[in-house]
Parts: sequence; structure tokens; C-alpha cells
Amino acid sequence: MNDREKKILTDRLIPVPRKIDFRDGELFLLTEKCPVRITSASEQEKIKEKIPELFRSFWGVTPELRLAQESLPPREFPGSYAVKIRSDLLEIRAEAFSGVLNAMKTLRQLAEPLRNTAELKGHFLVPCDIEDAPAMEFRGIHLCIFPETPLWDIEKQLRLAAYHKFNYAVIECWGIFPFDSHPEFCWEEKKLDKRELKRLIALGRELGITLVPQFNLLGHAAAARSISGKHAILDFHPELQPLFEPEGWTWCLSNPETRRILADLVTELHEFFGNPPFFHIGCDEADNIGTCLECRRRNLKDLVLDHIRFFRDLFAARNARVIMWHDMLIERGDPRWRGYTACRLPEHDLGDLHKELPKDIIIADWQYGYYKPTEDDPEPTWPTSRFFKEEGFQVVVCPWINPDGTISLGRLAAEEKLFGMLETTWHMNHGRDFARIYCVPAYASWNPAANPGVTLSTRLAVSHHLRQVGWDMGVTEYVMTGWNLEQVDAGNYPN
Ligand SMILES: [Zn+2]
Repeated sequence: MNDREKKILTDRLIPVPRKIDFRDGELFLLTEKCPVRITSASEQEKIKEKIPELFRSFWGVTPELRLAQESLPPREFPGSYAVKIRSDLLEIRAEAFSGVLNAMKTLRQLAEPLRNTAELKGHFLVPCDIEDAPAMEFRGIHLCIFPETPLWDIEKQLRLAAYHKFNYAVIECWGIFPFDSHPEFCWEEKKLDKRELKRLIALGRELGITLVPQFNLLGHAAAARSISGKHAILDFHPELQPLFEPEGWTWCLSNPETRRILADLVTELHEFFGNPPFFHIGCDEADNIGTCLECRRRNLKDLVLDHIRFFRDLFAARNARVIMWHDMLIERGDPRWRGYTACRLPEHDLGDLHKELPKDIIIADWQYGYYKPTEDDPEPTWPTSRFFKEEGFQVVVCPWINPDGTISLGRLAAEEKLFGMLETTWHMNHGRDFARIYCVPAYASWNPAANPGVTLSTRLAVSHHLRQVGWDMGVTEYVMTGWNLEQVDAGNYPN
């Protein structure tokens, strides 16, 4: 097989496996009763039940499945697998089901339709050997559900993220989750369909991506974008003002009623999501923290510390670890963070707050730029992630839509053995940023050494993968296809 052919085949794989060797020889035909052997150390029953379903769904065939049990050499992170394709046998080896599922995702991306017919008659795989393993344990995507977000769009993006081997999706509902405990903490006319969200949580489990809820416990208490001037609670419930600082942006930490109600809300949300092992408590950009009469006369550091510890303990008792944004733990203007994001202000006077926080809190370090101290430096130094690691925390690096930054943060996380990556999307997970949000971090968190960034090939691969997702969902409406609602934005280009 020549290099051009190899490149054509590897370009369609997101992320490309750590090691893939193509061979010359006969094709493996994905036909009825095609021979497949799966060796695993555990979960044979689950493999026996689920894998034939995937063969039917991906290629419309039922394999002749042979299962073998064998203990395999231990791997650093779950989800590793090996594949051997020859004309007479397709072999998959993995420790457990998650690795077999990852192998199936790679095979679906690699498989190609048979030629020379008008209608699809089947698929084939080229002979090759694959050895694959993730570079880090936590490979997350952060998805926002705004009042404007249809849940089918979240389903589409969850399916694509799972297909690109992300294993966690942090879900931030922006004032649209209808709480049973306190229904007033939601836009009444915009509340989401809880049965549908429940279905997506279960679907994520099937696809190998765990949904993790987020609720902001410090700033962003409005549950609406600050640039919109809206407030999901106070706009219609002025009677709840004492729970917030006077401007409404942060929670009032000295009011014991705030903690009582927030505990109800986060407990309900964690239960609704099926008690996952993590809960994201936000805590970013709490600019006007400690401004009410009571808070401004108290020691703010003590208030914040007590608040975060309380919720850390609440989740520890529920066997979950909290994730929090990093930016209120380091001070803006400190020369150590020049060029990087830090949001705490000197007047907040929070001192070395991080030193007194429990070290099982996961620090989500969001850095959206690409700052080189001098032009001839090869790459940013990312001092904030290194700092939190040295202070004893596990860190997830959080890029956004800057491909150079995402690529570099992936290398950093792998080299420094950080906990992982949490790709943020906010309101930008459509249009030209879509491929940057899926392809680049998928590579960065799985195979960071090989990250191609966004190229014509990777963008075409992402669009094909999204089409496959649409087939899985049975999409039949124009606006639900692709990554844009429409091809021409009539607002900018009236027709
Ligand atoms: Zn207050």
C-alpha cells in the first residue's frame, strides 16, 4: 500500500490510532456471518449482547462472533484496544467492553462501501494492525443547553463526541432545568423536557460518554449570559433577591438560606443525572462577590472557603468529586499569569485560598489564548496548569476554539500527566468553529502527538461522521443536518 493510500485512510480517523500499520492483501468483507473474534479479560456477557447490535446498526450484518477470555497486560487508562484485520478474520482485543466499543468506533470510521453499484451492497475493511490507547483518563466536552438550544442538537453533538472517543460530557443547563424542589429556579416558559434529557443521559451511557451536570455555585448565578442582561430567577421572582448579592450575579454566601436551597438544587440535579462520579460547581468570574451588607463586613476568604468545602463534602458523601473552574483561585495582575486567564481581583482579598481547599477537587483551568512570552519561544508555558498540579490538585486543561492552543494543551496534559482535557464550546459549537471544537480536542486528548489541527481532510471527515450520526438518529429535517441550521444566513445575506 503506498503512502497516498495510507494517508487517505488515516485522514478519515478522528482521532487517528496511536499505531496503525496497513498491509497489502485481501479485504475483510463485512457480510452476514463474517467471522469476528473478541478477546477480553471481562464483560463477555455485555460484549455478546451489545456488539452484534452495533454490527447491525453500522453495517447491516450479524457477525459470527467468537468470544475468548484472557487477561491482558494492564494499560494506563481504560478504553485501550487492539485490532487485527485479515481477509478471513477480524480480531479485537481489549481489557473490557469500553475498549471493544472504542475499537468498533475506529472500525466504523475505517470501513468503506463496496464499489460499482448504484445502491449500497455492503462494506469492507482493509487489512491492518491497530494498537490504540488514550493519552489521558478524562476526555470531556462541555455543552451548554440555553433556552435557545433544541435537545436534538445536544443529542447530535453527544453522539459525535462519543464517536470521537470523548468519555465525559459536562452539561450546563442555563436556567431551563425544571427543578421539582424549587420550580422558580427556571424560566417557566423555557423549561426543558426532562424525559428527553433523561433519555440522553441513558443514551450517553450506551455510547460510552458519561453526562456530568454543572450548576454554578459562586458567580454566574443569573443562569443567563451577562451580555444579555437577563436573570433566570430574579426577572420573574424578585422575592428571591436576598439569596443573591444585590446585583444578582453571585450568590450571597452569608445567607444560610442560600446554602439550604443550593444543596436541594445540586442534589436533585446529581440524582437526575444518575449520580455520576463528578459534579461541576462552576465558580468562575464571581466579579461582584461579597458586596451585600452582611458579606462585605465579613471575611470573604472564610465565606468562600466554607461554601466550597460544604459542597465538596456534600458530593464526597455521594461518592462524587467536584470540578471547579480555576480563575477565582489566582489573581489578575499577578506577573506569574501574564498572558493567561485569572479573574480574581485584588479587592477580593482571597489570599492563598487554594491551599486550604481539599485536594480531591479537580481544577478546570480554562485558557483560550495562545500566549508566547517571546516570539522565538516555541510554545506557551501554561504556568497556571503547572501551578495547580504542583499545589497537589488534579487538573483538566480547558481549551476552546483556538486550534494552536488546544494542540499545545493536549501535549502539556499528556507530558505532565494531568487528569485530562475538558473542551469548552459555549455558544460557538456551530459553523466554522464546529470542526475546531470536535476534531482538534479529540486528537489532543487521545493522540496529542499526531494532532493535524483543522485541515480540509479533517473537516470533511467530521462532516461525514456527523452524517453517520444523523443516520443513527433518523434525521429527516433539513435544519437538523450538518453543523449549521441553514447554508445561507439570511440575517447577514438577505435573499
Ligand atoms: Zn451577601
